[in-house]
Amino acid sequence: MVSRNSPHAIAEEVAFFSQAATFDRLWPAITDRLNEVFDDGKFSHGAQVAALEKELADYTGARFALGVNSGTDALVLLLRACGLRPGDGVLVPAYSFVATASSVVLAGGHPQFVDIDPVGYAMDPDALRAAVTAESRFVMPTHLFHRQADMAALGGIAREHGLTVVEDSAEAIGMRQSGTHAGLHGRGGVLSFFPSKTLGAIGDAGAVLTDDPELAETVGALRHHGRLGRTLAHFPGIAHETALPGINSKMDDIQAAVLRAKLPELDAAIARRAELAAAYGARLRGLPGVRRLPEPHPQGPGERGVFYVYLVEVEERDALAAHLAARGIGTETYYPRPLHRQPCFAELAAGQGTFPVAERASRHALALPLYPDLTLDQLHRVCDAVADFPFGGGR
Ligand SMILES: *Cc1c(COP(=O)(O)O)cnc(C)c1O
Repeated sequence: MVSRNSPHAIAEEVAFFSQAATFDRLWPAITDRLNEVFDDGKFSHGAQVAALEKELADYTGARFALGVNSGTDALVLLLRACGLRPGDGVLVPAYSFVATASSVVLAGGHPQFVDIDPVGYAMDPDALRAAVTAESRFVMPTHLFHRQADMAALGGIAREHGLTVVEDSAEAIGMRQSGTHAGLHGRGGVLSFFPSKTLGAIGDAGAVLTDDPELAETVGALRHHGRLGRTLAHFPGIAHETALPGINSKMDDIQAAVLRAKLPELDAAIARRAELAAAYGARLRGLPGVRRLPEPHPQGPGERGVFYVYLVEVEERDALAAHLAARGIGTETYYPRPLHRQPCFAELAAGQGTFPVAERASRHALALPLYPDLTLDQLHRVCDAVADFPFGGGR
């Protein structure tokens, strides 16, 4: 067996994701925070969570950031707190992580699928206009990979049709549009701190972002068995009583402690991601078989995209992924099936129309390794292996 410490093995493999070097560097800060948790003795919904919520509110500009158990729980609680009623239609993109649509079902709603735009992989405004029905009450734009949905266009259509806007901004920490952080363009949004996300915990964690105090109070109750008044640790509430049938989706202080140790480095990590994305672009542009490189979020004052994932569209995607895997290079297919083709949604989606852009993306999209610990040497090895691949035969 090759040991993890063998320099040989490390030189040859390029993991799809790793943060070993980040953890080595941040270990003193992480252990300081973890010691605070143990000294305090509160392991759930305690001082670290309250401090993280304040820091996330500062970072994003949200009035309220509420720590919960996962990005998925954040979506379910956000939808419930926005007053979603059983059977309400929620317009979601046909191409996303499965939780975008399953959260709607878990909250009692009815997902209505909308095709995406081919450049940004986000909900297409014209497709949204065409997909609205009498039962539609919410629209959930989703920001994927490296840029945001066009919130001005989607928000305009939502206003025309009286739809409440909630954002699946699970991937979008650090992204801004017209000066507003992702998740704050409508009634609220979410963050996921799943370990491989741009800001990752050491387990599952998530947050709800909103500027609306009533919504924050309701999410705060729902995550904590429906108890009002013990909801926002730094926000004194009314005497506690169980007002709503809630769930238990409090955030662990261990996760909050780690996230607090990592948050001061987030902007540097985002800058490193952008640098790596530019290096990929310089190497991959014009290579045969590469159909599309990521189009960065539009630049300008108040605008910021974040390279959470470096996604290319290629010919012969699965054969290329196998070729890279044989050379020790990890890739992922985001997302291997459009949502309307997932077994759990297929029946629901029947009769909702066709989603050709989502279909195409799911056949051709391949995510290459991109994370702050990736070295330029590793990146060049990935590009060499893509350049080596005999697109169009010869295998
Ligand atoms: C990661 C992700 C989620 C879910 O977040 P978890 O913390 O894994 O539950 C939801 N939507 C999108 C688009 C995501 O990428």
